Amino acid sequence: MARIADLLAAGRTFSFEFSPPRTDSAQLSLGRTIAELEPLRPSFVSVTYGAGGSTRARTQQVVTWIGKETGITPMAHLTCQSHVRDDIRSLLDAYREAGVENILALGGDPPTDPADATPSDFQYASELIDELDAYDFSVGVAAHPEVHPRSADRAADRQLLAAKLRRADFAITQFFFDVAHYVRLVDELGELGVDKPVLPGIMPVTNLGSVRRMAELSGAAVPAWVVERLELAGDDAEDVRRAGVELATELCAALLDAGAPGLHFYTLNRSSATREIYANLGLPTAR
Ligand code: FAD
Repeated sequence: MARIADLLAAGRTFSFEFSPPRTDSAQLSLGRTIAELEPLRPSFVSVTYGAGGSTRARTQQVVTWIGKETGITPMAHLTCQSHVRDDIRSLLDAYREAGVENILALGGDPPTDPADATPSDFQYASELIDELDAYDFSVGVAAHPEVHPRSADRAADRQLLAAKLRRADFAITQFFFDVAHYVRLVDELGELGVDKPVLPGIMPVTNLGSVRRMAELSGAAVPAWVVERLELAGDDAEDVRRAGVELATELCAALLDAGAPGLHFYTLNRSSATREIYANLGLPTAR
């Protein structure tokens, strides 16, 4: 296992994001996906945390399993909504004992039904970073190239992100489709004196409907030219998927040309799109 700050200091990182499985069969399928992606030699993989801590135990199990049973460095996502201080400390203690070295500190989203909300000592990711100060994890934070939907305006979004990133080691972005959003984000952080690595999050579009829904929630726009390219692919699901992989490959190539310190793939627990993009980009894989 390694600290992501050290990996980034040594060169570009290529990383994958998974969600903790909800059923036994989903667990088997995730195990297969990880085995299929292992030959791509990811720098690290990260495991999401359900809104309001709904996957607390499962995230912890998957992160610990990856750290122990595979050769891959894991990172645990952690959100602050619906957590009291003791919840966070006991999780951080458990990760430290398991040898996990990387935490993505997130605000998280409030539960959709306010009746599901439980008391919380934290509101913003920066307050989780306060807790993390007592530990030695390498800490990442989220960045929103198209501005977080709850931010008052662009300037406030960038100032709060810059303040968060000054105390963290790196950021990973929400997904986006236009390289200009990433370049502008990095430039704006630079103007605020922050040059920590910002890893672009890549979401290969394999189904237009589901990406539109996710984009709506995250504040990302699906540009008309992306919709057009996917519609041109026709009605066949495999053709649409192939067009989505092509679009993601073009975005990744543009990001690497623009100097991105790595690429972080939202895999949705599947391996094929990521493997195809890797092959298209000519990225190294294990022999
Ligand atoms: P914060 O940094 O807390 O910011 C949230 C909003 O509050 C922003 O508008 C910010 O400008 C504002 N803000 C921050 N600090 C202050 C302050 N002091 N005063 C006033 N306003 C403030 N969600 C999950 O539930 N589980 C996951 O595993 C998960 N993984 C993610 C991974 C990545 C790479 C990304 C980009 C997002 C992920 N999310 C996840 C979604 C994320 O939790 C939501 O987007 C959430 O709404 C914001 O998270 P944040 O860490 O950016 O929050």
